[in-house]
Amino acid sequence: MDWYLECSDCGARAEPDGTPGVCAACGRPLLVRYPDRIHPMTERAELRRRSSMWRFRSFMPLAPGEEPVSLGEGDTPLLALPRLAARFGLPVMLLKDEASNPTGSFKARGLSAAITRATLAGVDRFVVPTAGNAGVASAAYAARAGASVRVYAPRTTPPTILAQITTFGGDLVLLDGHIGDCGKASREFAAETGAMDLSTLREPYRIEGKKTLGLEIAMALGWKLPDVIIYPTGGGTGLIGMWKAFVELTAAGWITDPMPRFYSVQSTGCAPIVRAFESGAEVATPWQEPWTIASGLRVPGPLGDKLMLRILRESGGGAVAVDDARMQELSRLGAATEGIDFAPEGGASLAAAAELVASGGISAADRVVLFNTGAGVLYR
Ligand SMILES: *Cc1c(COP(=O)(O)O)cnc(C)c1O
Repeated sequence: MDWYLECSDCGARAEPDGTPGVCAACGRPLLVRYPDRIHPMTERAELRRRSSMWRFRSFMPLAPGEEPVSLGEGDTPLLALPRLAARFGLPVMLLKDEASNPTGSFKARGLSAAITRATLAGVDRFVVPTAGNAGVASAAYAARAGASVRVYAPRTTPPTILAQITTFGGDLVLLDGHIGDCGKASREFAAETGAMDLSTLREPYRIEGKKTLGLEIAMALGWKLPDVIIYPTGGGTGLIGMWKAFVELTAAGWITDPMPRFYSVQSTGCAPIVRAFESGAEVATPWQEPWTIASGLRVPGPLGDKLMLRILRESGGGAVAVDDARMQELSRLGAATEGIDFAPEGGASLAAAAELVASGGISAADRVVLFNTGAGVLYR
C-alpha cells in the first residue's frame, strides 16, 4: 500500500494494514494520505475513457492489480436546474443528482470503497448502524463481496428503505431510537462477533469513496470549481470528502480555483452542526430527541463535527437549518418543475439555496452546486 493514515485532529500517524478504525491517540477520524502518488496532466484526458467512480483509482486507496467491489457507482450527472434557478434569482444552479447510484443513494460510493478495502484485508462479516441508506448500500456491497452484514436501523426508517436492506440480504435489526443508539448496538455486536464496524468515520475509506463526488464535479466543470456547495449534512462524509478532493486536486496541479464556500444544510429537527456553527463552537453537542423525515440528516452527534466546522469556517461558508415542511415543498417543486426524483435531503438542499439567496449568503454572481443525495421513491 502506498498510503498511510493521519488523524484529522491530532495528526498522529497510523498504518493502513488490516481494518483501521479511528485515531488510537484521540479517537477522532483518520484520513488517507498518499505521499507518493503523482498525477500527470495527461491522465485527465484518459479519465474520460474509464467509467464509474473508480475511474479515479489513482486518487483512491487501491494498489496496482487490486480490483474494487463495484456495482458501477458514481458517474452521476451534474444537471442544470434552469427553472428553479430562475425562480430563486440565480443565473446558474447545478445539481449533482445521486439518485441514479446503485442502491438509490450516494452511500454507494462510500460503501464500495470501504467494503473493497475490508474485503482485501480478508473481512467477510460486517455490521453497520444506519439512518437508512447506508444500510441498503452496505447490504448490497456486502452481497457483492460474498460477505454478510448485520444492520441496525431505527424502527422509524422509511419502509421502502427497510425492505431494500432485507432484499439485498442484510440481517436487519430494528431499534427504538436514532442512529446514535444503532451505533452503540453495532459496537457491541462488533466486539462480540468480530464483525467489522462500517460506521461513518469509524473507518477511513468511506470518505475516499465520497471524495469522488468532488473529483466528478471538478471534471464536469472542466477542472474548475463552483463558488458555493450546499450539502445536506448528516455524518458529513460527503462534505469532508469533497473538501479532501479539492485539496488533492490542487496539490496535483489539476485545479487552481479557490476552495468553494461550503454550506451545511440540516433539518430544524436535528441541527447539531448548524447550532455549533452559529454559536462559534469548535465541536457540536449532541442534539436531543432528533427527528426529521430526511432520515439521512438524522445524525444527532456526528464524529466528524470538528473537521466539518473547520471546513465550513475556513471556506467562508456557513450552515442553515430548514424545516421538514419546506423540504417537502421544495422536493415536490423540484420534481414537478425539473423532472428529478428529489429525496427530502435533496429538497433540503434546495430550501437552503432559497434561504441563502434571501439572506444574501449567496449572490447572483455565485455558481452554486446542490445535491440530491438519494432517490425520493425510497421515502414513499
Ligand atoms: C446519508 C445521507 C445524507 C448525509 O450524508 P453524510 O455524508 O452522512 O453527511 C444525506 N442524504 C441522504 C439521502 C443520505 O442517505
